[in-house]
Amino acid sequence: MSETPPNIILHAADVHKNFGGLRALSDIDLQIEEGKTHAIIGPNGAGKSTLLNVIIGRIPPTSGAVVFDGTVLTGKAPYEINQLGISRVFQTPEIFPDLPVLHNVMAPAFARRDGAFRINMFRSVESEGEIRQEAEDMLNDIGLHGRREDHAGSLSRGDKRRLELAMCLIQRPRLLLLDEPTAGMSRHDTNSTIDLLRKIKSSGMTKVIIEHDMHVVFSLADRISVLAQGRIIASGLPQEIKEDPRVQEAYLGGSVE
Ligand code: ADP
Ligand code: MG
Repeated sequence: MSETPPNIILHAADVHKNFGGLRALSDIDLQIEEGKTHAIIGPNGAGKSTLLNVIIGRIPPTSGAVVFDGTVLTGKAPYEINQLGISRVFQTPEIFPDLPVLHNVMAPAFARRDGAFRINMFRSVESEGEIRQEAEDMLNDIGLHGRREDHAGSLSRGDKRRLELAMCLIQRPRLLLLDEPTAGMSRHDTNSTIDLLRKIKSSGMTKVIIEHDMHVVFSLADRISVLAQGRIIASGLPQEIKEDPRVQEAYLGGSVE
């Protein structure tokens, strides 16, 4: 396995994943720099979600390993990986539809208290009032405060996605993985999600974002990796990716705005 430089918080090294005869991921070497927003783009079926699932422990790689801050994740259960400070927003929101929106946001904060991952080790028990306040602030930030008493199941698809983002953020992860966070959103909701993600960028949280919408990608990404047919065909700064002829040919249809 290749050496991991010190500012790299996550390193997927030589990862392969086969589903039967299908090579979903081949020769993946992905390095994510701490504090940065790293976008993974590529056509449908390229292997983007599979790569995220390998990172969070939902899918075991056929070979290779993923290392997070010096800890080998491969072989660990998803909840153990989550407790190390990795959260993921799924492509399909996973919320508690019969609970009020506010309780949906509070629940992961309670789970956080007993976890190995704590931002403040000197304050092991937070009161329910503190957590409620934090959840209300979070709902304000994502524009859902007015819906806090409604059942989460009654929200629109776009609002459910934002709720799920809030449920991840309240865990205060060190690494946040987002699988198409703006899919199914209106342009207005997409823009407010970009604003929210920009806000958390300044908090130093590392983010990996899978996204189809190039407006979102180029608004947020510090670095971009391009997946095609299970391989990373290019990795670099947004400007480099825009100008890379291989990327234009494989994915971007000849020109990028
Ligand atoms: P993307 O997220 O880039 O659209 P995926 O990672 O979902 O792509 O899928 C990559 C390839 O792996 C596709 O050909 C898909 O059909 C296949 N695939 C994904 N998950 C499974 C699975 N659980 N079993 C078999 N094939 C799968
Ligand atoms: Mg996908």
